[in-house]
Amino acid sequence: MIQLIRGFKDILPGETGLWQKIEKTAASLFEDFGFCEIRLPILEHTELFSRSIGKDTDIVEKEMYTFADRKGDFITMRPEATASIVRAYIQHRMYAVDPVQKLYTIGPMFRRERPQKGRYRQFYQINAEVIGVDSPLVDAQLIFMLAELFKRLSVSDVSVHLNSLGCPKCRPDFTRALQRFLSKVTTQLCADCQKRKEKNPLRVLDCKVLACREAVADAPAMIDHLCGECEAHFTTVKNSLNNLSVQFEIDRRLVRGLDYYTRTTFEIQTGLLGAQSAVAGGGRYDGLIESLGGPAQPAIGFAIGLDRLAEIVAVNNKDAAGGIDLFIAALGEKAKTAALEWSCALSLCGIKTETDFSNKGLKGLMKRADRHGAGWVLIAGDKELDEGAAVLRDMSTKEQLSVKIEGIVENLKSKLTAS
Ligand code: AMP
Repeated sequence: MIQLIRGFKDILPGETGLWQKIEKTAASLFEDFGFCEIRLPILEHTELFSRSIGKDTDIVEKEMYTFADRKGDFITMRPEATASIVRAYIQHRMYAVDPVQKLYTIGPMFRRERPQKGRYRQFYQINAEVIGVDSPLVDAQLIFMLAELFKRLSVSDVSVHLNSLGCPKCRPDFTRALQRFLSKVTTQLCADCQKRKEKNPLRVLDCKVLACREAVADAPAMIDHLCGECEAHFTTVKNSLNNLSVQFEIDRRLVRGLDYYTRTTFEIQTGLLGAQSAVAGGGRYDGLIESLGGPAQPAIGFAIGLDRLAEIVAVNNKDAAGGIDLFIAALGEKAKTAALEWSCALSLCGIKTETDFSNKGLKGLMKRADRHGAGWVLIAGDKELDEGAAVLRDMSTKEQLSVKIEGIVENLKSKLTAS
């Protein structure tokens, strides 16, 4: 049997209801905050990611699905969405209409990471980005909106971690201080961090290897090295979050895997997912648009891991599977023909209706109704059709009542929508 590729997964019918609920909740919330949806391709030129995410990041160095197409051009299955959003902003000159663009997108991303629970090679993200606003107030607004999404999905075990990564003015000094520190603890670092120390020292702070975490316990922190402007920006973000009653923790060690982040950086973490504790991450990337050939516009955004979010929402939604409204148990050929008409008409009225066109007896049909979790069952045999009335059974109380066949769709509609 052909099986799916390692690190990839199917999202099965029992799960998709929850995914749809999350996607709808996010889309409607984001739209209330003024965001518009953007849909982007999965394949992009490799250079888009190597230039934006950074050559020395894990993603670009070893995780991208990159291949030469038939003409020999290098293309990549997108590992994240921000670079594509920025590419679209520049390519379609969206800034010429309005430099401020608030965009969201939902879709699959691809990274060839080591698969484990909560970490896949195809995973899904919900992204929201605000381009064209440098005010720290928008940082707070975006984090507020993200926290609200978790509230609406009744996820409580989450915390907002906040840090600042400074800017090109203050970060080089800090990087040098960090490198000086790291050179004193080199021997304690893992092989990857020995390399990162030279090329991308900030990433050492983010390493999950226990020895590295211990080695950097006393490492200098970016927030102690912020320039005046970055300091003021960070203070306003913190004050605004307090004013909006969003709880957060300052996480001096929080850095992000991609090169382009500046200033405000945040992550939503949860205790519900074991090792993969990050459900969402984001931050400012003020220099990215210009570095990709666009106008000098600041930006901030976040990406939520939809697979991980669905997992934690499922914890609180054990019985959210939701059954159908009505099952029509049709016995006999005439009844089945009538059931086809009734079920189509009722489905068009928004009443979730199922029927069964096989030759099952009443016992078998009631089993099907149970499997569908039907609230009501309409029992109609050829005999009932001749007599002009079918039986409607309330599956929770087991009460039965008679429903006239004449005008049955209207009769059922008023009965079921009233209950
Ligand atoms: P990033 O784009 O790396 O900042 O990740 C943003 C969010 O996407 C993370 O907080 C995770 O929830 C999710 N995520 C990232 N990589 C994976 C993966 N390989 N599998 C599942 N979720 C992921």
